[in-house]
Amino acid sequence: MSFVTVTNVKKTFAKAEALSGVDVNFEAAEQYVIKGASGSGKSTLLYLIGGLDRASSGEISVGGKNLFHLGDDALALYRNNFVGFIFQFHFLLPSMNCLDNILLPAKIGGKDVNAAKKLGLELAETLKVSHCLEKFPYELSGGEQQRINIIRALSLRPKLLLCDEPTGNLDSENSKIVTNLLKSLAKEFKATLIVVTHDESVAKHFEQQLVMSDGCIVSK
Ligand code: ADP
Ligand code: MG
Repeated sequence: MSFVTVTNVKKTFAKAEALSGVDVNFEAAEQYVIKGASGSGKSTLLYLIGGLDRASSGEISVGGKNLFHLGDDALALYRNNFVGFIFQFHFLLPSMNCLDNILLPAKIGGKDVNAAKKLGLELAETLKVSHCLEKFPYELSGGEQQRINIIRALSLRPKLLLCDEPTGNLDSENSKIVTNLLKSLAKEFKATLIVVTHDESVAKHFEQQLVMSDGCIVSK
């Protein structure tokens, strides 16, 4: 069975149908890009897979767990245990320095903070942002902020790394660097990587490309 299975998933907001019957599978430790025009349902699909929102109908299962059957607490636990999120805008907390931001998922989840710190320091070294750890997010450049964001998303070694336009506010050079980092880190962590983008220069780095249009996957 695939690591992530999405079966006939629909999502309706008020009267608008954002997803109109999505069927797609993602295999463990593989890497995918989902392309499609703005409004085609890419973010909605990603949020449902990540347990940030719930489908109106259909089934999503991740690692054999059917998200539909999880209550709110169990869904929060699923996110903390399984999922790393990276969005276009970083959502680092402005009142905390970068290291504290990185350790937040471990603290919230009651996980091993020392292990998260050890990994965080290693990744900061690899991503060349060690000098940023004591700084506050506003003191960093956009590219540095996004790298801190990536470290935070990986801090609990998630099996699923979900990225929504991760390079949307970066210049083309940083965009390429961040895309390559996501790919190599996902490989190292044996995580399933799903990147949503409308940017062909990001999409071209992926062998497995899915296309969404009007709330459906139209090509695999
Ligand atoms: P994409 O990420 O491909 O740009 P989205 O998944 O954000 O597309 O949106 C798909 C459709 O669902 C759009 O028509 C959008 O306006 C609608 N939509 C998304 N989120 C909401 C929401 N929270 N409330 C109402 N409509 C929404
Ligand atoms: Mg979107």
